[in-house]
Amino acid sequence: MRQVIVAGNWKMNASKETVNTLIMGILSGMADVDSNVIVCAPSPYMSQVEALITHSQLHLGAQDLNVNASGAFTGEVSADMIKDFGAQYVIVGHSERRSLYGETDEIVASKVQVALDNGLTPLFCIGETLEQREAGSMEAVVSRQIQAVIDRVGIGAFKNIIIAYEPVWAIGTGVTASPQQAQDAHAFIRSMLTQNDASVAQTTPILYGGSMNPGNAAELIGCEDIDGGLIGGASLKAEDFLQICKAG
Ligand code: PEP
Repeated sequence: MRQVIVAGNWKMNASKETVNTLIMGILSGMADVDSNVIVCAPSPYMSQVEALITHSQLHLGAQDLNVNASGAFTGEVSADMIKDFGAQYVIVGHSERRSLYGETDEIVASKVQVALDNGLTPLFCIGETLEQREAGSMEAVVSRQIQAVIDRVGIGAFKNIIIAYEPVWAIGTGVTASPQQAQDAHAFIRSMLTQNDASVAQTTPILYGGSMNPGNAAELIGCEDIDGGLIGGASLKAEDFLQICKAG
């Protein structure tokens, strides 16, 4: 039985005031939540979040990492820096990183490796664009994205990886994959893992991401191969995020 995981990706949305309100709001409703809940904060706010969530059930994640340990990489954040703020998770390969910052499958695979080498759990994002879906290439795209990581770290490493299937056409658009579309993609991803290692496939969490909200979360998370959600927009409102956390 895989535990439901709900991760909020705040992206570049935060201020000291909103972080305080959001975290206090989430904490006030956590007593009824059984899911493993993670908030992925922008780097400048990680210290604030760390202080606010001490001794709570909430976990902290970062939104990206640099593969280098330290040095002349202006603007970048290393795995050690992320860990310094008590974070255990890091989003890797988000479609915005892939499309806006040119992250290839190979770069994403290196980031997964560096996260794992440093004891961080990567939230490894994959997913096809609308054009790719309409061309019937969803399976080919996600296979290629996963294979790059298997080639780099081996299938056994997926014991410590969380996959997030995020169809690009559903991210931030208000268009959600139907439960059937999402389940079909998740089942395909799990079958690919099974071909490599059946026991790893059974334990690897596969989250859905793409306009998940309080109205659709229960049905999506209720699907056999959907183990939770990576939430963008709806993670910025404590009430909405909590409802999704409780849907699991
Ligand atoms: C995301 O950015 O990972 C995401 C799923 O965003 P949204 O929920 O806003 O579609």
